[in-house]
Amino acid sequence: MPAPDYTETPSNASAALPPGMVLGPDGKPCRTCTDWKSWSKIGKAAKNKESSSSSSSSPSSSGSTDAKTAVAAGAATTTTPASSSFNYEAECPPDREVLGRATWTFLHTMAAYYPDKPSSMEQSTMKSLLSSFSQFYPCGHCAEHLRQEMKVTPPKVESRKELAWWMCGMHNKVNEMLGKEIFDCNRVDERWRDGPADGRCD
Ligand SMILES: Cc1cc2nc3c(=O)[nH]c(=O)nc-3n(C[C@H](O)[C@H](O)[C@H](O)COP(=O)(O)OP(=O)(O)OC[C@H]3O[C@@H](n4cnc5c(N)ncnc54)[C@H](O)[C@@H]3O)c2cc1C
Repeated sequence: MPAPDYTETPSNASAALPPGMVLGPDGKPCRTCTDWKSWSKIGKAAKNKESSSSSSSSPSSSGSTDAKTAVAAGAATTTTPASSSFNYEAECPPDREVLGRATWTFLHTMAAYYPDKPSSMEQSTMKSLLSSFSQFYPCGHCAEHLRQEMKVTPPKVESRKELAWWMCGMHNKVNEMLGKEIFDCNRVDERWRDGPADGRCD
């Protein structure tokens, strides 16, 4: 399957798009590929554009997600929600960060409860699930990266421990790429299944 064309604006981008904004293959900003900080700039810019268009006589014909026109109209720079009771994660469609956290929760928890001795059918189902997942994960450039990593290190589905460690390794590759702390894979069961020994999660 040909890789879709995702483009991230560089950190020194100055003109058309805010840095960090990712465009999907359709050329429109991709919310699930972008962090909310960058997304909110384009969102507010689009709103500014719409309100200035509606105050003039000609109605806006383009969608509110047309990044280039919106930013050209003057991107708002604030990323602070208007109301302190506003909770982005609880109220809004996911950005790249929210989607990532929720997905890792699902993936690690699924691995933590995978059978110790999976049947060959269960192993093959898990392989298909991960392969399908890497095709459809809605952050396109994240999915592309995952597919590349899965070619180099294919999923280990022979046992619960192997899958949990493989998943931990995949997550650590992303952590490394993003400059985040590397997680100690000896702690995957504690983090995702058993909870810490001091019982604070019980
Ligand atoms: C498949 C996939 C690919 C991604 N690719 C990209 C990408 O290319 N670019 C991008 O910007 N973002 C990507 N993301 C999102 C990114 O990984 C984070 O989810 C996001 O940046 C939020 O990070 P966070 O610091 O809140 O914690 P997350 O990295 O989301 O971690 C959530 C929790 O998992 C635990 N944890 C951390 N590392 C491990 C580990 N190795 N094993 C087990 N548990 C762990 C920690 O307790 C942590 O609090 C991807 C997400 C997924 C699911």
